[in-house]
Amino acid sequence: MLRRKIFERSWVEIDLSAFRTNLNILKSFLEPQQQFMMIVKADAYGHGAREISKIACEEGAVYLGVANPEEGRLLRLQGCQAPVLILSPCLKNEINTILDNDLAVNVSSLDFARALNKTAKTKNKQAVVHLKVDTGMHRSGILDSEFIDFFNKIAKMDNLLIEGVFTHFASAENDPEFSKQQEERFWNIIDNLPFTPTYLHIDNSNALVNGLGKHSNLVRLGIMAYGIQVPGNKDIALQPVMTFKTILSQIKHIAKGESVGYNRSWTAKKDCLYGILPIGYADGYDFMLSNCGVVFLDNKICNVIGRISMDMICVDLSPIEHPAIGDVAILLGGSALETRAENLVSKYGGNSYELLCQVGRRAKRYYFQNGKMIYSTPLSRRDFVPDDFSDSKLNQIIESAIAQRLQSIEIGELIYREMLRDFFYYKDKDIHYRHNFQHQVIFSHSLNAGYFNATTTLNFDKVLSNDYFLVACASSDEVLRRYFKRSDVEYRWLMDDSFELDSKNFIVCLAKVDDLILQTTLHYINGCLEIRCSHPELKKKIGKRVHFTINTLTLYPCSSHQFSVFITELTRGVDISFRFPLTINTVDCVPFFSGQDKDPIIQRNNGEIRVSSKPEEWIFPISGVVFAY
Ligand SMILES: *Cc1c(COP(=O)(O)O)cnc(C)c1O
Repeated sequence: MLRRKIFERSWVEIDLSAFRTNLNILKSFLEPQQQFMMIVKADAYGHGAREISKIACEEGAVYLGVANPEEGRLLRLQGCQAPVLILSPCLKNEINTILDNDLAVNVSSLDFARALNKTAKTKNKQAVVHLKVDTGMHRSGILDSEFIDFFNKIAKMDNLLIEGVFTHFASAENDPEFSKQQEERFWNIIDNLPFTPTYLHIDNSNALVNGLGKHSNLVRLGIMAYGIQVPGNKDIALQPVMTFKTILSQIKHIAKGESVGYNRSWTAKKDCLYGILPIGYADGYDFMLSNCGVVFLDNKICNVIGRISMDMICVDLSPIEHPAIGDVAILLGGSALETRAENLVSKYGGNSYELLCQVGRRAKRYYFQNGKMIYSTPLSRRDFVPDDFSDSKLNQIIESAIAQRLQSIEIGELIYREMLRDFFYYKDKDIHYRHNFQHQVIFSHSLNAGYFNATTTLNFDKVLSNDYFLVACASSDEVLRRYFKRSDVEYRWLMDDSFELDSKNFIVCLAKVDDLILQTTLHYINGCLEIRCSHPELKKKIGKRVHFTINTLTLYPCSSHQFSVFITELTRGVDISFRFPLTINTVDCVPFFSGQDKDPIIQRNNGEIRVSSKPEEWIFPISGVVFAY
């Protein structure tokens, strides 16, 4: 008996090792010049685009194929950086999503190409396009007779990059004659193009194993990688990647002559045992499997009896000696031939692609590698598109997720408040983080005995949110703290209390945004010298990423023996340097970095210490460096 590890009404198991094996089998059919694109549309045919993409890229996929921009965007949100091609023609209102997520796109209309080119120009981007030739499928694509003209027009659009030309077979699996014609039309066109794009692709998985498209250099692998055997290619030993399972939830007797289910479509020929499985067409078990489906239970094949209901099906338990409630039933996939998708769909004239996509709508997915479960993904993953939520709703979700994870509302609330809320709560919807944050501090001898002249230079990129910003020089810790929460403050300094807060002791020498030199005005407000930096032209730059430069000159007491630099905002790439006079013998530094990079690089030169992260590393606020001398 199959031992039950998962206690749910139904679940889907995805065998990543089987997927890897299938991919390797398919890869053995590739010509030396061929690379492959993994097709992960429809959430990787129901297998989970994120996980499948990851393995495919490890196995050498140079491209991922999706159906629409939203699928591409989701991959990007999940951290996928591989090239992604949208296979079907897009709508004009999808152009922003395409460009903002760096997705390549099927172009099959001049009108769309023009709109794409125009928007790409305003974003200062190059849109990557693959042009589709219609060689006889007569779905999307430009007819071969019109293609060269189309290609030339697209080639003239400055902000479009023609990276590929492709076509699609109408019957790669069973019409070699027609497929050959399609191929001929394709190469005819390619031979007459003014230049050859990087990728020429024709094959889907069936076409590959049927020896078509051998001169292309990219192959689009789909269904066979998911383990679906195709008629005629049974000797290629592919394994199903997806298994859909449920449990026996009730066992009942039926007397000869009684019927089961809606419309009484099945009648018992003899007294027998039958069972109820708690899944139905709402779970993706096709209605067409009524009276013809089979399930694999206790190593036996059991027939589905009666009509498939929305949430239940009935199976004949006659083949099973000792059925028990809780026994696992395999509905799709697994080791039995009868429950393989291709065999199930053949019972009702259905289609394996459809069955894979629709199965397990109410089921969690469990991922297996080398026979071991490595993790599961919740149902909500499948339609989680954060744009649908308001900020406050998202905040609630995050907070309650943390509380649930820690099994304590109290600690959850605390952690959320202390560690995350400041990121989201006090800011606009977009978190305007700093990029390439460079902070240089130079201590040098001063005419004021007991003090160093301290010159600080700050350089970073950030999206400008106001037509001004403040530099705050505070007289005490307490006053300084007021300025930490304010998003209009770009630099904060704590003045030694032996000094007057005045414009002689703390000077903003230069405040610049891009090439604009800002005007500065001073205000004393409750223990703080606020220097307002502004320029009438700044208004035009609001919302754009700009370069900030802030230079200051002040004094710092020698007796303090330490100097700290704090990172107060989410920052990507940090470089902090401290230069000191050679009269200071030893300077030590203690970085405290939180974020991706907890161990920044420390470099020492004569009279200088530099603490830096890699340029792409994220550093969280509440990070910094203490220099001790
Ligand atoms: C879905 C799709 C594929 C993958 O086809 P399979 O038959 O699943 O291998 C390839 N190319 C295009 C354009 C597709 O839409």
